Amino acid sequence: MTSADPFASIADLDFHPQCQRVWCGNRCDAPAAAWILFHSVGRCNHPSMDNGRISLLVCADCLLEYDKRAGTVVREMKPPWYRRDKRAKCPSCSKRIDSDRDVLEVIYPLQEGFK
Ligand SMILES: [Zn+2]
Ligand SMILES: [Zn+2]
Repeated sequence: MTSADPFASIADLDFHPQCQRVWCGNRCDAPAAAWILFHSVGRCNHPSMDNGRISLLVCADCLLEYDKRAGTVVREMKPPWYRRDKRAKCPSCSKRIDSDRDVLEVIYPLQEGFK
């Protein structure tokens, strides 16, 4: 994927997009409801990453999964014993991780299929 304009490429789709999440080797084939950018904390310098983020079309269920996963990442980054004055940071890019939205960075609802 290029860094041009991801929204434009979604608008150009002339078929109904499907969820792209791969789960235990199975690909979810539910209708996509949103496009997301998920910061791959600790792995964002991996060459396969698009600017350190997973760029994915997801269905409503998988969106909830990624939302939960973002919450889990934040809790792991900031365990209860973590000193409040210390900042949690992504180990690979030093981006500050304070909330779910620092991990699940973008949720762009698709016009069709979003209920
Ligand atoms: Zn799905
Ligand atoms: Zn990072």
